[in-house]
Amino acid sequence: MKLHEYQSKELLGKNGMPIMPGRVAASAAEVPEIVEEIGLPVVLKAQVHVGGRGKAGGVRVVGSMEDVVPTAEKILGLTIKGLPVKKLLVTRACDIAKEFYFGVIFDREKRACTMILSGEGGVDIEETAKENPEAILKITSDTRGKIYDFQVRRAAAAMGVPRELHNQFIKLALALYDMFVDMDLTLLEINPLVVTDEGNLVLVDAKIITDDNAMYRRKEIKEFERADPENPDEVKAKEYGLSYVKLDGNVGCIVNGAGLAMATMDMVKHFGGEPANFLDIGGSSNTEKMKQAMKLILSDKNVKSILINIFGGITRCDDVAAGFIGALRSENIDRPVFIRLSGTNEEIAREMLEKENISADTRMEDAVKKAVAVK
Ligand code: GDP
Ligand code: MN
Repeated sequence: MKLHEYQSKELLGKNGMPIMPGRVAASAAEVPEIVEEIGLPVVLKAQVHVGGRGKAGGVRVVGSMEDVVPTAEKILGLTIKGLPVKKLLVTRACDIAKEFYFGVIFDREKRACTMILSGEGGVDIEETAKENPEAILKITSDTRGKIYDFQVRRAAAAMGVPRELHNQFIKLALALYDMFVDMDLTLLEINPLVVTDEGNLVLVDAKIITDDNAMYRRKEIKEFERADPENPDEVKAKEYGLSYVKLDGNVGCIVNGAGLAMATMDMVKHFGGEPANFLDIGGSSNTEKMKQAMKLILSDKNVKSILINIFGGITRCDDVAAGFIGALRSENIDRPVFIRLSGTNEEIAREMLEKENISADTRMEDAVKKAVAVK
């Protein structure tokens, strides 16, 4: 799960990391009160899950009270890389003497954690990585998962951290590293990590991605998901035991098993269609799940046709048919549905569907072609 900057900073702040005070707002009207509380100058920052907000006009320093609301309105009206800005982080601005890059990643290739550091931090880090890769330093953890003081000290000198700040910088870098490990993160990125004119270190931007497999023991992070879901439909689907990922196409897919779901999406594309989603109803059959799956797909306005592809093993075709018939009764199914059934209790399922005047294909290809043909 990707955390917003304001959520990342909340975690960092709770762990004693140096961040400027601030709060999140969902409308321009809420901003003046926050500004009065934290004091001018402030930075207004668009909260969207993409980088490069600064360059897109989504990060603005405001020095006077009368500019606060107009600037907030401007940012809340932006769409950055396709994402509408719904929330703003209002934070006290700090003056910046120098910007550093700091990151930790879960490095699958090295089977370790890697700390990434650069003296060329700020909004052009991607270019630096391409054109001047030697300006980017990497420290990979040892077999015990540790990164040591002396390694960070060497990097601090090489990347131009002022001499008098070395001890403070090393302490901060290692504390961030510990937080990365302790909180089950897969990415912790601070860009920029700044030195202020007074010579303090401050974390100005923060990006966190969590390891979802560990979320059962990360209550504080799960809470973020509940309070501000990235995609409410995906969260709702999870509650019903469905794996759902929304995509941009218009063929809604309901499939049992992740492998078959992927094969179905491939086949939809092969015949010139675009899947509207990935949806795995899972290995066990359950009529309620099927109903919820139909509901979810129907709520997607892009969907033009619905493809149900079931290969019955543990999942029984008759349970799926019962679920579908149930949905037929309770939902307004206003788009064509194509069904492919094969496997356990296929015959029973066909009989049930025939009573409702519904036919189902046996071959996946046939149903896929029909679903793709709907325009
Ligand atoms: P990003 O563009 O999405 O990475 O957003 P950042 O939060 O990193 O902000 C982009 C840039 O805006 C930073 O690299 C800084 O140069 C500038 N910036 C952000 N916050 C402040 C601040 O408090 N004071 C000053 N002077 N500049 C800031
Ligand atoms: Mn940044």
